[in-house]
Amino acid sequence: MSFSPEVNLARRLVDRKGLTPPIDIEKLVKDYATIEELAFPVDVDGVCLDLKQPGKKPRILVNSVGRSRNRMRFTLAHELGHVLIPWHTGSIVDETDIGNGDENADYWQLEGEANRFASELLMPTKWVLEIAQQFASPLDVTEKIANVANVSFHAATIKLIGCLPQGFIFAQTQEGIVRSSGRSPGTLANQPFIGEAVNPEKAYPWAKSVWHKHAGDLEYHWWRSKADKSEPAAIDARGWRNILDSILVHTGIHGEELKKFKQSINGIIAYANGHVRVNRSSAAIYDACLQRLHSVAKRDARINAMLEHDEFDAFLWSKISDLIKLD
Ligand SMILES: [Zn+2]
Repeated sequence: MSFSPEVNLARRLVDRKGLTPPIDIEKLVKDYATIEELAFPVDVDGVCLDLKQPGKKPRILVNSVGRSRNRMRFTLAHELGHVLIPWHTGSIVDETDIGNGDENADYWQLEGEANRFASELLMPTKWVLEIAQQFASPLDVTEKIANVANVSFHAATIKLIGCLPQGFIFAQTQEGIVRSSGRSPGTLANQPFIGEAVNPEKAYPWAKSVWHKHAGDLEYHWWRSKADKSEPAAIDARGWRNILDSILVHTGIHGEELKKFKQSINGIIAYANGHVRVNRSSAAIYDACLQRLHSVAKRDARINAMLEHDEFDAFLWSKISDLIKLD
């Protein structure tokens, strides 16, 4: 696993100070900056002043109005990121409801870095992976992380999804509409998009496991792929080209359009196959292909029909057995 510079900075700090959750963030921050807790008149989480000013200790102002203890802890860790990341300079106001406009691209880049620093500091990856071993459900893992590290359930969710192997997707919804979502690194299926309505039982037909949890007026959904589905004992002897023709014969697609459609299927499969670089088992390739095909099927009814065809599995396994011969 490789880490970005800001995450490495947090890792080194955790190692050097021998920190383990729950981290006493106030005590830690006081080594590097002064902290003032204030009731801000505006909707801002915190402010960082005098960053990298020679002879001056940086000042962190934290808003205490309407913020939970966990959120203030995360803000403090985030501000420490601004203090320690070498290229964060000047003064930074952390507005929570600032627009997502392009004019703020630099601001959002710094914010992302400070958030990843804070996340690694409060929930070190190594520690998260140890907890992930203890439970089957990612929701149980999240709950344990949130409870021990004193972070919000959502912050723990974002951290966990970034640490898991490929094939995990989560969505946080409110009244069925996605508010936040993510996928573990290397996952080929798209996560549900923010603002989209999602039916948790039908969103990922390829998922082996689905988990749900209510938290106040929010719901958390997790899906895990079935990467362990095994190849059938015998591959269909007709060959994948013939099976595909047999699947497509009644679709009403003909001539040039049929040729293009077949090319697009082969393209999707080649893309998925190309992303399975380590542990190239037929099961892993099958899983990757299903993830991609189901993602595309959401906007292409022809692919959806193909996926539902009785002979689809025979086609895909036959195609994969040819792909593996090329390795
Ligand atoms: Zn910030």
